[in-house]
Amino acid sequence: MATRKTIYLDNASTSAVRMEVLDSMLPYFIEEFGNPDSIHAMGKPGRDAVKRARESLAKMINADPDEIYMTSGGSESNSWAIRSAVTGPRAKGRHVIVSSIEHHSIINACEYIRKLGLDVTYIPVDPSGLVDPAEVERAIRPDTAIISVMTANNEIGTIEPIKEIGEVARRHGVLFHTDAVQAYGQVDIDVRRDNIDLLSASSHKLGGPKGVGLLYIRKGVRLDPLIHGGEQERGIRGGTTNVPGVVGFGKAAELALADMEERAEKERTLRDHLIGRVLNEIPYSRLNGDRERRLPSNANFSFDHIEGESILMSMNMAGICISTGSACASGSLDPSHVLLALGLPHETAHGSLRFSIPSDTTMEDIDHAVDVLRDTVERLRSLSPLYDDFLRSQKGEA
Ligand SMILES: *Cc1c(COP(=O)(O)O)cnc(C)c1O
Repeated sequence: MATRKTIYLDNASTSAVRMEVLDSMLPYFIEEFGNPDSIHAMGKPGRDAVKRARESLAKMINADPDEIYMTSGGSESNSWAIRSAVTGPRAKGRHVIVSSIEHHSIINACEYIRKLGLDVTYIPVDPSGLVDPAEVERAIRPDTAIISVMTANNEIGTIEPIKEIGEVARRHGVLFHTDAVQAYGQVDIDVRRDNIDLLSASSHKLGGPKGVGLLYIRKGVRLDPLIHGGEQERGIRGGTTNVPGVVGFGKAAELALADMEERAEKERTLRDHLIGRVLNEIPYSRLNGDRERRLPSNANFSFDHIEGESILMSMNMAGICISTGSACASGSLDPSHVLLALGLPHETAHGSLRFSIPSDTTMEDIDHAVDVLRDTVERLRSLSPLYDDFLRSQKGEA
């Protein structure tokens, strides 16, 4: 067992930095370490590199380079968008609409603004995790400042109808923000076509370094800073530019855009094989999230009568890295808010696992992971009095 390599199937929590990305970053640590805002000669190489990176980052979503604001990651971008829409001198109103399956960086930003006395409406989702744009429209009030619905969910992979939700927002003159952290570089996004005013993305989810992200702010939308400082990022996000980080993020975006289709195809093939085998070979298992509208790399399952956490630990002993949902939720005993929002009972939500597949995974790795999973589920169930009761009741009824 110990001789086997680790099989990493947790790419939605973070991804390996691509070698070309690392190479692109290295010159900006030592030789070209200058502050890009310096007027002397040492400032220029970093400044030029950041400018090129901004162009690549904008191109991914058909934005203009000066609509891209660098941040420390997806969480900062999300907090910034939500908080500055409803607080501060440029607040647009006092009511926020979000889906009930948003990432914790959105949900907790909303909980914070609720403590400030502002209002939040959580829009429910259907059993596959889809938000209904008509329901969003019904929630709009005269004082609604912002609607935020993620492009793709990080736990169940469901891809939301953001273009239609953007249309609703535009029609009512409400800001539309989307957390595209899981979708950026994975799914075709066009901020003009999709009526997006604000969009968050993060470098480490697509083969770039951790600690870098962006907020796209459509020209004409004026936000207050979340971080006060100097004139960086057009004066609304202070702090010395993370030059190597931004350069790496730009490179990762450039590479991701170039091979998006090909990567998605590889991931889809691996994912569908995984889904097929799991549902066929493991009794009382179900796939969570929408079957069609889902991220190519995501598969999320529930297994009745056992704890997802126990499966995860067992798989980990066998060298297979998966997740029970979001990294932020692990360590807490509450089942995922996303799975509960789908209408799953608590017990089923507790027995859930997320696989997110890097594109360079082999079919052998997937097959091995399913073999281990099947044996694990079988073994844990054989130890479970609940499962025993369940089988007995099944027989009794038959
Ligand atoms: C990972 C993630 C975030 C947070 O991004 P960080 O860069 O890690 O702060 C936000 N939203 C979604 C959907 C994510 O998957």
